[in-house]
Amino acid sequence: MPEQGACTVVVGCQWGDEGKGKIVDVLAEDVDIVARYQGGANAGHTVKVGDDMFVLHQIPSGILHAGKRCLLGNGVVLDMQQFFQEYDALVARGIAMDGRVGVSLRAQLLLPYHRLLDQASESSAAEPIGTTGRGIGPAYEDKAGRRGVRVADLGNPERLAKRVGAARDRTGRRVEQFGATGPVDLDRAIDEALALGERLLGLATDTGVEITTALKAGRRVLLEGAQGTALDLDHGTYPFVTSSNTTAAAAATGTGIGPTAIDAVIGVVKAYTTRVGEGPLPTAFDPEMDERVRQLGGEFGATTGRPRRCGWFDSVITRFAAQVNGLTGVAITKLDVLDTLPELRVATAYRLPNGTVTESFPADTWSLTGVEPVYETLPGWQAPTHDVRRVSDLPAKARAYLDRIEELTGAPVQWISVGTKRNQIIPVG
Ligand code: GDP
Repeated sequence: MPEQGACTVVVGCQWGDEGKGKIVDVLAEDVDIVARYQGGANAGHTVKVGDDMFVLHQIPSGILHAGKRCLLGNGVVLDMQQFFQEYDALVARGIAMDGRVGVSLRAQLLLPYHRLLDQASESSAAEPIGTTGRGIGPAYEDKAGRRGVRVADLGNPERLAKRVGAARDRTGRRVEQFGATGPVDLDRAIDEALALGERLLGLATDTGVEITTALKAGRRVLLEGAQGTALDLDHGTYPFVTSSNTTAAAAATGTGIGPTAIDAVIGVVKAYTTRVGEGPLPTAFDPEMDERVRQLGGEFGATTGRPRRCGWFDSVITRFAAQVNGLTGVAITKLDVLDTLPELRVATAYRLPNGTVTESFPADTWSLTGVEPVYETLPGWQAPTHDVRRVSDLPAKARAYLDRIEELTGAPVQWISVGTKRNQIIPVG
């Protein structure tokens, strides 16, 4: 088995949907705590346990392993209604939840006016971002604008009413500016959300203290990212990004531990590339191949059902991800999706419109629409890999493909996933 540190970050290395949920689910077996450090209910992890499918939006996928403690760090924005819907659905499916879920006192609350504003601004935008319309962006805007309401505020009804009232009024004005009309019952929606406050406070904790204490006591911790590196607010394809830092460094700020507490960073890399929402995808397939791989890989969003655009493996992005996240290892997912393809292309660099070839990920997002990927072609293995459990049993051409990905990315492959099920995983080394 690959050696893991006591405190490991799992981070997406492309545009999200890399299969982080599955990898976290596999790695969670050996840890005591799993914590989410950013994002909100716009992230969707799909995890298959036996024949049961679970879609988790806010609660870390570690919840599917009995006895693990699952935390939502201060870096997340928490939609209480969605959260308890997910929580209660897990209880209804027989998952023992008591004492297992903790929510940071410093986490921001996503309230109904955030959703309203998200939808109003996206539908009137000249250049839509392709958000999920769940209010995540406006909730992070309120956080940065110092107008946010945090879990800790739920303990002080007077302060809460004042802060929520001010935010609600401001949102009303902004929605009007967008020419949209809000639902007449926004106040009722807010009241309904806040009615869950006491229940949420029952789960409140200081995640930084909890994780630091656990690590000192020799326990093991997994910090789970949502979305992916190319969607990071600073390092991604701005402005077609999510509204938080998705990359590994955010695992420290988003949970309240110091960066030196992190021992390992595992990057989750899909064996090809996909992207949901707007924005450039340099290695996009032609329409026929796009449809074929989308069907083979089931590339439809877990949260919205939106079809994902698909493309060849892009090492410019994964190399960038290795740098930004300081990857100590890589988990390759969905290798099996490529099993039937006669040949595979891998982008090694981009040719810019002026003819220059670069191996670096350009900072200018718009220049990405004009780049031409420089491809290498490798033969497909055209044999099923679902049942392979040892690297040595993989077809030689599949190993050659993985070796090339590893070489171009610059971080060692430690896991290879060959199916949706928990046991469809090949440890390397
Ligand atoms: P996440 O947000 O990064 O966890 O990704 P999603 O859950 O949105 O998408 C991953 C999808 O791929 C889920 O439906 C998983 O069940 C599925 N998946 C994960 N790993 C594999 C794999 O190795 N092979 C196949 N075929 N599907 C996988």
